[in-house]
Amino acid sequence: MAALERLLPVLTSEQGELQVELNLGKDTGGTCFLAGTIEGEVTLRCQRCMQELQLPLDLEFRLGLIRDESAADALPDSYEPLAVTAEPALVADIIADEILLALPIVSLHKGSNECHAVVKDYQPPQGEQRKNPFAVLAELKQKQ
Ligand SMILES: [Zn+2]
Repeated sequence: MAALERLLPVLTSEQGELQVELNLGKDTGGTCFLAGTIEGEVTLRCQRCMQELQLPLDLEFRLGLIRDESAADALPDSYEPLAVTAEPALVADIIADEILLALPIVSLHKGSNECHAVVKDYQPPQGEQRKNPFAVLAELKQKQ
């Protein structure tokens, strides 16, 4: 798990195991592809209560290998383009990217009983005290 360096900033823990299966090949249409599955669980931080949150992963991806971006249009729809430059892409980076794409933008515990945030303690932001609208009416009546 520590190998997926790009993931570490978003994870609260390096603990956890991911089962990754990769399959590199060429389909009947001549497209070189890297297909794989990622299964396991990652630990994130709930943005509401700031406690740890386990997120199960079950991903499947299919990347079509292309030499440059312009070749992306020629890829069959079933593939996501993966540009292969002179530098070989690190498999760990590819996997990290796939996981990052699958993570929610804001991670939150699903249920209120799972989440540690105590909603009933919520305090409305302190601001100017609103005037009771009925008090205003009472003032108007007195002026008449
Ligand atoms: Zn929470």
